[in-house]
Amino acid sequence: MKLYLNSKKMDNYKKSNKLTLSNKIKAKTKKQYKNIIAKNKITENDLQSLTNMICNDFKVNTINVIFTGTQIKKQNSIVKGYCKVQKNIKVIKPLHIKVFKYTSTRKKVIATKTAVNTILLHEIVHYLDYSLFNLSKSIHTAGFYKRITALKNMLNF
Ligand SMILES: [Zn+2]
Repeated sequence: MKLYLNSKKMDNYKKSNKLTLSNKIKAKTKKQYKNIIAKNKITENDLQSLTNMICNDFKVNTINVIFTGTQIKKQNSIVKGYCKVQKNIKVIKPLHIKVFKYTSTRKKVIATKTAVNTILLHEIVHYLDYSLFNLSKSIHTAGFYKRITALKNMLNF
C-alpha cells in the first residue's frame, strides 16, 4: 500500500515536471494584462477579469478570485495567496483563488505587479495544473515554475 502511494506521488511529480503550457493567450487578454499592470491600485474586479480571460483562453472553467485579508507570516515563508479546488473522482470543481490584499508586516495594500505577476499568475498555474492537466496535486516542481514563466511571457508579448 505504501509503495503504491509512493509510486503515485512519484508519477504526479514526474508529470508536473514535464508538462508545458502551449500558448493560447489571445490579443485582448494581453491588452487587458497591460492595462491592469499599469494601474496604481488594483481591485478584485481587475484580478477576476484577467483570470476569467486566461481561463477562457485555456478553455477551462473560470474560478472566483478573492482579494482581501492579510498575508500570513510563517516561520520561513509568507503565505501570499492560495488556490482551492474540490476534487471528486474525475471532476475538478473550482472553489476560489485567494490573493491576500495587505502585507503581513506594514499592512499596506500590495503593489499591482506583485498581486498580478507574483501571486495571481502563480495561483492560476496551480489551477491549470488541476483543471487543464488533471494533476492529482499541484506541486512546486521546476516544471511548475517554468509554466509560470511561460504564462508571463505569453501575456507580455
Ligand atoms: Zn504555490
